[in-house]
This record gives sequence, C-alpha cells and structure tokens, in this order.
Amino acid sequence: MSDKTLFQKIIDREIPAGIEFEDDQCIVIQDINPQAPTHLLVIPKQVIARVGEAAPEDAALLGHLLLVARDMAKKMGLEEGFRIIINNGPHGGETVPHLHVHVLGGRAMLWPPG
Ligand code: AMP
Repeated sequence: MSDKTLFQKIIDREIPAGIEFEDDQCIVIQDINPQAPTHLLVIPKQVIARVGEAAPEDAALLGHLLLVARDMAKKMGLEEGFRIIINNGPHGGETVPHLHVHVLGGRAMLWPPG
C-alpha cells in the first residue's frame, strides 16, 4: 500500500485536482470542499506533516508558502481581504497530515473562527 499522503498523490498526478499554480517548491489547488467562494490550498512539495514539526531549515520554504498565498489572493481578485489558515493537530482541525496553507476569500470572515 502506498504511504504517500493525499497531497503527494495530487502533486504526482495520481489523484486529480483543480491545480491553480505550481512551482518547484509548492502546488496550489482548489479545496474539494470549499468554505468560501475562493478556497485554495498551498501545499509544499517537501512533505512536512504540520507546522509544529517544521525544522529551522524549513524557514525559507514556510516563507515561500505565505508569499505564494499572498500572490494567489491577488490573482483571485481578493482585494477586499482574505484569510490564511494553517490547521495543526486534532484541536487545530487538521485532517490531512501534509502541511498546507488555506487561502479563503470572497466573503467576510467571522471572528472568532470557531
Ligand atoms: P485540514 O483540515 O486543515 O487538514 O485541511 C484539509 C483540506 O483538504 C480540507 O479543507 C479538505 O476539504 C481538503 N481536501 C481533502 N481532500 C481533497 C482533495 N482530494 N482535493 C482537494 N482538497 C481536498
């Protein structure tokens, strides 16, 4: 049985996804269960399970993911604002153990997020 993460399978084109952007470090896909009119996932090609397990040497990659999230928000026309979320662990609402940055927009977000 493959021990690849779901997102590795998407990166390797073994599972289809709505791919919005890709570079040497990450891929950006449409979330399959969108929680806002725009809901993208920015996913590093290097598998880091969650931000809580990132290493100091991952700093540049983590920064890159945020800058790509920023660029995607601009590309999607989210001039009114957007929200970036990283869920970490069971209490954080993480369901896929492969780090990913949610980019949500197209509606006003609530706070606290629930
Ligand atoms: P999280 O709960 O933070 O781990 O986020 C995982 C996200 O992956 C959820 O928002 C899911 O809707 C999304 N997701 C799960 N399977 C797929 C898939 N095959 N393609 C795109 N997004 C997915």
